[in-house]
Amino acid sequence: MKRRDFLATAAATTAAGLLSGCNESNRQAIDYSKHPGKKSVADKNVNVNYNKKVKINLATSWPAHFPIMGTGVDEFAQNVKRASGGSLEIKIHAKNTLIPALAVFDATSSGQIDAFHSGPYYWKGKNSAFSLFSGIPFGMTAEEINSWMLYGNGMKLWRKLYARYNLHPLMGGNTNIQMGGWFRKPIRSLADMQGLKMRIPGLGGETFAKMGVNPILLPAGEIYTSLERGVIDATEWVGPALDMKMGFYKVAPYYYSGWHEPGSILELTFNKPRWAKLGSEHQAIIEMASSQMNLNMTSQFHYENTKALTLLKEKGIKIYNFPDDVNAAGKKAVREVLGELSAKNPDFKEVSDDIKSFLSEAEVYSKASLHHYLNIREG
Ligand code: CA
Repeated sequence: MKRRDFLATAAATTAAGLLSGCNESNRQAIDYSKHPGKKSVADKNVNVNYNKKVKINLATSWPAHFPIMGTGVDEFAQNVKRASGGSLEIKIHAKNTLIPALAVFDATSSGQIDAFHSGPYYWKGKNSAFSLFSGIPFGMTAEEINSWMLYGNGMKLWRKLYARYNLHPLMGGNTNIQMGGWFRKPIRSLADMQGLKMRIPGLGGETFAKMGVNPILLPAGEIYTSLERGVIDATEWVGPALDMKMGFYKVAPYYYSGWHEPGSILELTFNKPRWAKLGSEHQAIIEMASSQMNLNMTSQFHYENTKALTLLKEKGIKIYNFPDDVNAAGKKAVREVLGELSAKNPDFKEVSDDIKSFLSEAEVYSKASLHHYLNIREG
């Protein structure tokens, strides 16, 4: 469906869905054949049977009701239920309750479950290009990612690659810029990074490795203790809100601003044949609700991070910036990582080149607008 058609359909469907509410008698009172969206969607699986409930099993990589990521999915499911008049139910299976946290991609690909909520960088072992949809060191911000995804080539490329795995992705949130992490000792120069054992996954980890860091992968539950005992020297996690809940400030008090994950997206991905079997109205409701989830989660991260940083500062935590030689080495390292992965994988090259081309223009614009404005606002 063309985007314009979708918007027309979506607006009409939402209006009808919201008007109908959850009340059976109200719902029957609406004549769907007369609603304005009818014409534009009449060629496809229209006319959801409102007497037959459709259920989508969705597995997440997060614990139940996990702050922001988990509660955002809860809200999405509730919105889908409300907008569909109860005809579409998203049944959420939290991490490891039905599917192990990092098996959700395969389980959805095979059709064992219908959908998942997670992050694309977890699947870089399947195709290194997937990590590019999450966030790249010195890459796009959340706002730029949305712009590239929705109006540039991002979504087109993502869907093309995921189709090979029977998957249909939608955006499902963004952490916004992540912090550089918590360090047991201050970083005064690039020399202090040599041999440092740091929990840092993804392209950030590969970039840090080139700078002399020893990247370690650890399950979330083991990070605090490892940091406390000196098994690792540093960890990145997300941002002030989620970091504070993990308590890292108690054992590694040097908190750094970062550039390794300037905007990491979360995904809501469906089994493609299952998606195709959904009625157009249900597809439209999911598309709208996921769009709202994407926006709301991004906004909530921003809000909660703002509040949490104030609290951390009240606890005496100071924010540091990496020294210039660390930043310069990081920029050089990420160019090497992207170059090497592009040489190995044509999919990676296609996506990476497209991002590079988008970003070269976006940088000019952000320098002339947001960057300039923020400098003046803070002055
Ligand atoms: Ca992170």
